[in-house]
Formats: sequence, structure tokens, C-alpha cells
Amino acid sequence: MQSICEDKMCAGCMACVDACPKDAIAVLERLEYYTPSIDQSKCIDCGRCTAVCQQCNPPQGSKPSKWLQGWDSNSESRGTSSSGGLAAAIIRGFISAEGVVCSCCFRDGQFGFEFSSSIADAVKYKGSKYVKSNPIGSYARIKKLLVEGKEVLFVGLPCQVASLKNFVGNKLLSNLYTVDLICHGTPSPAILRQFLSENGIDMNQLESIEFRSKGSFQLRENERTIDLPGVLDGYTVAFLAGLDYTENCYHCRYASIERVSDVTLGDSWGTNLTEEMRRGVSLVLIQNQKGQRLIDLAGAELMTVDIETAIKNNGQLRSPSEKPSARARFFEDLSCGRSITDAVRRSLPKRYFKQSLKRLLIRIGLLKRGGGVRN
Ligand SMILES: Cc1cc2nc3c(=O)[nH]c(=O)nc-3n(C[C@H](O)[C@H](O)[C@H](O)COP(=O)(O)OP(=O)(O)OC[C@H]3O[C@@H](n4cnc5c(N)ncnc54)[C@H](O)[C@@H]3O)c2cc1C
Repeated sequence: MQSICEDKMCAGCMACVDACPKDAIAVLERLEYYTPSIDQSKCIDCGRCTAVCQQCNPPQGSKPSKWLQGWDSNSESRGTSSSGGLAAAIIRGFISAEGVVCSCCFRDGQFGFEFSSSIADAVKYKGSKYVKSNPIGSYARIKKLLVEGKEVLFVGLPCQVASLKNFVGNKLLSNLYTVDLICHGTPSPAILRQFLSENGIDMNQLESIEFRSKGSFQLRENERTIDLPGVLDGYTVAFLAGLDYTENCYHCRYASIERVSDVTLGDSWGTNLTEEMRRGVSLVLIQNQKGQRLIDLAGAELMTVDIETAIKNNGQLRSPSEKPSARARFFEDLSCGRSITDAVRRSLPKRYFKQSLKRLLIRIGLLKRGGGVRN
């Protein structure tokens, strides 16, 4: 095999690495794009890598059959989730029904995936991580659990769900349950690592990192914000502007109303439930009967949502994020050794200026501290 997916279109889902029987594949993580590399001396041309790749073989998606909005009925759990806490409610419900869950956790400086069959342990998954995660090893382990007859729930990004379905194959799909997130796009963790390092923080030493709390988007490490509370830090400015995603994200085929999962979760932006928004309101799309079972097990507070409003306020249900014209300059600056903050300042001067002004006004007491609000 000379190559797997189209040049620079690798999503970093790592399914090809898990599928290779000869350990011949490594995914090279560049700041701007990921790319698989095949050791030709080991490759036996079996084609398993292309068979599982969601870029080469995108599974068929389906339109949601139900559109809802709501939140975890456990108010403490809702409070500590990024949005309405539906992910946590689904995970708890699934584990109570004797299932095994696999989802993303931050540990030892990595955004990897862990398994759990204990409710007490499930809190570890909470929180949106606005960075590329790495499910390496999870595909093979999930398939093994399914072969053993276990029911497995995977919660992750749409590209990861798509590759997982390819990996598992049709015969084992009946016991696999999937939840995907509406996804704006993801930067390489190397960008986050560099940004933290520029702020004197070693990502490997961090116990916890938060990207957001409800409508407040801001990096927090061990509960301390990196920038002043109320000011969007450079990493968050770049993420929300879609400046630093890997190349494939701007061409994402899953940024659509056709979903590859059983349930899709997002934020109910534009909701009529304005009073509830500060506590978090999730958007919930149910695609099929397995999705309905997940939602029944979650026992969450759910109500109808206006479909047009939900689609209008969530661009990633229509198309991928647009690549900003300033992205090339941003990466050029990084390659010349500029800091992330400096590169953001030069690429997005207006947004940068607005945050600098906020920082100044907070410092001199003319503006109240608050969360870094998405704008
Ligand atoms: C990169 C990214 C971009 C997003 N973009 C949008 C958007 O444009 N519009 C929108 O409506 N919603 C978006 N979301 C989803 C949103 O942030 C919430 O995750 C969602 O609303 C569900 O909230 P929650 O409170 O139920 O769960 P949360 O507390 O957010 O937990 C989410 C679950 O997903 C898993 N997860 C978190 N981050 C990752 C990751 N990087 N990779 C794989 N799994 C992960 C967690 O382990 C957990 O199980 C995005 C999420 C991510 C991670």
C-alpha cells in the first residue's frame, strides 16, 4: 500500500494503525495536517487500512428521526458538564444496563480514550476537549468486547464513530451503540501543548484541563484560568475562529444533517429556553431505535426543539467550518518561531484587540470579571 487517504485529509482517527496486522502504519502529526506513513518493508498490501478509513470508505449516514433539547436530570452532573450534560446521563444509563463505555479522557498530557463499566468511574469523561483526541487501541478492544457478546457505547467525534463502524463491520454492529458530537473542527494537541508551555505550564504535569464551562469558553488548568477570567485566551480565540484546525476538518463530510451515529449531541444554540441556557441545554438528535434506547436509559429532561432554529444556529449541521484566509499566515508565523499568542495577534488583529481591551478594562476595574463568552 503506497498511501491510505487523500493527501492531508487524515483525521487522525488512528483506525488504520489499529487495523494493520503488521504494525506498519504510523500517523505523523504535523501542526497543519496529519498524514499516515506506511513502512513498505512491512506492508503486505492486505487493504485493511483503507477498509477501515472513514475518508476512503465513509459509512452511510441518516437524518435524525427525532430532534430534542434538554439536560441531565441530575443537577450536579449537569453543572459539571460542558453543556447540558446529556453525554454523562447517557453514559450512566448505559453502564446501569451492564454496558461498557469508551470515551475520551485527559490523562498524563494525552487526550486518549478509556473504558469503564462502573458508574462511579464515569465522571472522568466529562467535559468537551477542544482538541484532537486519540482513540488508538480502542477500535481493536471494542471489537473484542463485541465478539465476547458485550454491549459497548462509544462517545466521540463523528470521524471516529465512522471509522469505528468500519472497523467493527456489519455483523457486530447490533451491540455497538454510538454517540457523536456536533463538531466545529479540532486543532492538533501540539498547538495546545505549545500554548500552555508559552504560559509556563507543562501539559504532561497537568491534573486537569477545562476548555469551557457552559457559555464561558476559556482554558482553565486545575480550576485556574490561563488568562484573566472574562478574557478569551489566545488558544480559545484561535479555536473559536477555526484558525488552527487540521486541514481535513475544513472538508469534513460529517458536518451535515446526515449523521453516522445513533445519537448526536451538541448545544441547543438559539434555544427558546433562555433562562436554562446558563445551566446548559444540549441539542439531542436521535437517528434510530438504538439511539432511542440510549435516550430512554439516560432518563434526562427532554423537550421538543425548533428544528429550523437548531440548524440555523449550528453551522456544523450544514457544512464544515470555513478555512479563514488568515490560517496560512498563522502557521507560517508558527514555523518562523513566533508564539501562538503572537501568531493569533497578527492573524486576527480585531479579535485580539477586543480581548486586549477587555483585559485592560478588567484590570483597571471598569469591567466586571466573568466567563470568556463565545462571540
Ligand atoms: C472538538 C469539539 C467541537 C465541538 N463543536 C461543537 C459545535 O460546533 N456545535 C455544537 O453544538 N457542539 C459542539 N461540540 C459539542 C459540545 O462541546 C458538547 O460536547 C455537547 O454539547 C455535549 O455536551 P455535554 O454537556 O452533554 O457533554 P460534555 O461534558 O461536553 O462531554 C462530552 C463527551 O464527549 C467526549 N469528548 C469530549 N471531547 C472530545 C474529543 N475531543 N474527542 C472525542 N470525544 C470527546 C467526552 O469524553 C464526553 O464523553 C463540540 C465538541 C468537541 C469536543
